[in-house]
Amino acid sequence: MSDPQAYPGSRYHLFIPGPSPVPARILREISMPTIDHRGPEFAVLGRRVLSGMQTVFGTAHPVVIYPASGTGAWEAALVNVLNPGEAVLMYETGHFAALWRAMAERLGFKPEILADGSRCQRTGLPADWRRPVSAERIHERLRRDTNHSIKAVCVVHNETSTGATSDIAWVRQAMDAAAHPALLMVDTISGLGSIDYRHDAWGVDVSVSGAQKGLMLPAGISFNALSPKAIEASRMAHHPRSYWAWNDMLEFNARGYWPYTPNTNLLFGLSAALELLEAEGLEAVFERHRRLAAACRAAVRAWGLEVQCEVEDACSPVLTGVVLPAQLDADGLRQALYERFQLSLGAGLGKVAGRMFRIGHLGNCSEIDLMGVLGAVELGLKRAGLALPGSGVTAAIEVFDQPFRR
Ligand SMILES: *Cc1c(COP(=O)(O)O)cnc(C)c1O
Repeated sequence: MSDPQAYPGSRYHLFIPGPSPVPARILREISMPTIDHRGPEFAVLGRRVLSGMQTVFGTAHPVVIYPASGTGAWEAALVNVLNPGEAVLMYETGHFAALWRAMAERLGFKPEILADGSRCQRTGLPADWRRPVSAERIHERLRRDTNHSIKAVCVVHNETSTGATSDIAWVRQAMDAAAHPALLMVDTISGLGSIDYRHDAWGVDVSVSGAQKGLMLPAGISFNALSPKAIEASRMAHHPRSYWAWNDMLEFNARGYWPYTPNTNLLFGLSAALELLEAEGLEAVFERHRRLAAACRAAVRAWGLEVQCEVEDACSPVLTGVVLPAQLDADGLRQALYERFQLSLGAGLGKVAGRMFRIGHLGNCSEIDLMGVLGAVELGLKRAGLALPGSGVTAAIEVFDQPFRR
């Protein structure tokens, strides 16, 4: 007898760590009639989203909003402040860190990536991909860079391929302790709006983000948050740039406009997203995500499986990577769950493809949503022939039943 299949009218269950499910309220705003992006009404919207994003980034300095996915904002960060051929120090936390490095190389910069190359003894998975950034290693490398040839340190705040969140304030401290003048660039594409982030307080020079993860929008807008030092560097830098150039953006943004056509309807959605975050309160949003993640990890452990991130304090609040025993194919499991429930889970990317899958619990995600997906995964694991030592769903309910503070 074959397993039941998803019925035609079934809701689609999107549990990948971005794009995340878009709330109905935001979908409605995006469907409103487009307005003139040079007209007076637009400037009100422009100013509203620019200032709202300053709050979300924790900055009093400018935020630039691009009509592009996060990858565009990665490029913008690099080309605005660096000169051709300059060295940047990056850190191998996972697939996204590796992609940013590849981009830096293609653009003609000289990225050096801190990677230890060893493998986890139990699972054979790359050791770096199971941990957050070690600021000590950055400190040690910068201290050896006595002629200051490294111009920027680039780290991923929340590594979406593995589910490890790095301590950005610690990276800043390490750079200061080395008395090194490099700029600090941080990719918080999947962290912003779901995990505490403080551009100014942590001394970040360029923060990069996107809208389809914690900000609950469809893909298509992305951000750079700038520091005065980064703006100064951009005035001196001469890497070719046009579409991404901050100076044009800053000039037009000051009046609430864009130098080219912005994606007005997504900005309607962004304004609604900001209202949702403000209504809940950022602290409450962060706590909701920590709670969801704690419940998800409890479930994984109850199933007798490993969480991809080995460092408990660094486990991501927005997604959980689940490592399967070597004999089980993670992609086969994902496919079976898709056919039965129209449930999409995140694939293992790059070096961990097929060995793990990712449960996204970010943005528009509630306790009941997570309990549903955990129930489906538990069933999928059983159907795949895994003998489970306990129920993950029950373990998650236990977490939700307790007062929570972390
Ligand atoms: C999603 C993501 C990206 C890529 O952004 P796109 O919007 O897909 O271009 C880069 N870095 C991280 C950490 C991400 O989660």
